[in-house]
Amino acid sequence: MLMENYDLVQKKIDDACAKAGRSREEVTLIAVSKTKPVPMLSEIYEHGCRDFGENKVQELVDKYEQLPKDIRWHMIGHLQRNKVKYIVDKVYMIHSVDSLRLAEEISKEAVKKNCTVKILVEVNVANEATKFGTQTEDTIALVTEIAKLPGIEINGLMTIAPYVENAEENRQYFSKLKQLSVDIKHKNIDNIKMNTLSMGMTGDYEVAVEEGATFVRVGTGIFGERDYTKNN
Ligand SMILES: *Cc1c(COP(=O)(O)O)cnc(C)c1O
Repeated sequence: MLMENYDLVQKKIDDACAKAGRSREEVTLIAVSKTKPVPMLSEIYEHGCRDFGENKVQELVDKYEQLPKDIRWHMIGHLQRNKVKYIVDKVYMIHSVDSLRLAEEISKEAVKKNCTVKILVEVNVANEATKFGTQTEDTIALVTEIAKLPGIEINGLMTIAPYVENAEENRQYFSKLKQLSVDIKHKNIDNIKMNTLSMGMTGDYEVAVEEGATFVRVGTGIFGERDYTKNN
């Protein structure tokens, strides 16, 4: 079942790329495995999946220890500064950097562990009160400051779009994030790569791909609904 789901999502990404005239290699599917047990991750790992997304530090570290080391772990959830030290040398990328203070902590720990951490700056493009992320208009100032820190490589931007019934409603936000990344790229700021856009979830990833996503983060569409009542 998981493999069929995974293949179907990949197929829909193929189609969205074709529709938008994009090369399929530009888009990577991240399997968002939060709350799901290790055997389910193993199953799609065996099927070829190497990119997994988690939103809790402890859970990411636990799974990291149990699963093969060629997995690219993506930290996609809100990150507390006091937990940064547990993951800097384990994650492939942190998608959820939304403040200079958090970036400074990541930088400090990266220097300590002698590694470079790839990050994305999370932008609250839809301006939702309930969401983390920097405001669109503050993003350029923030990336300019983060770019000065050692041990950090800014790769692009991430957003969590609103929960909507009709994915088309989110097209405007994906398009805005793409435009913002283009604006930043044109500023040619040292130590900033703007080649990564993490946007699109189960309900809207096809629209996100059409608008330029390079990472889509799909959980429910692969693993099924999450059960938060169980203590996993
Ligand atoms: C849980 C989560 C997802 C996946 O959501 P689905 O709707 O299950 O695909 C994607 N991104 C973030 C940041 C998440 O926390």
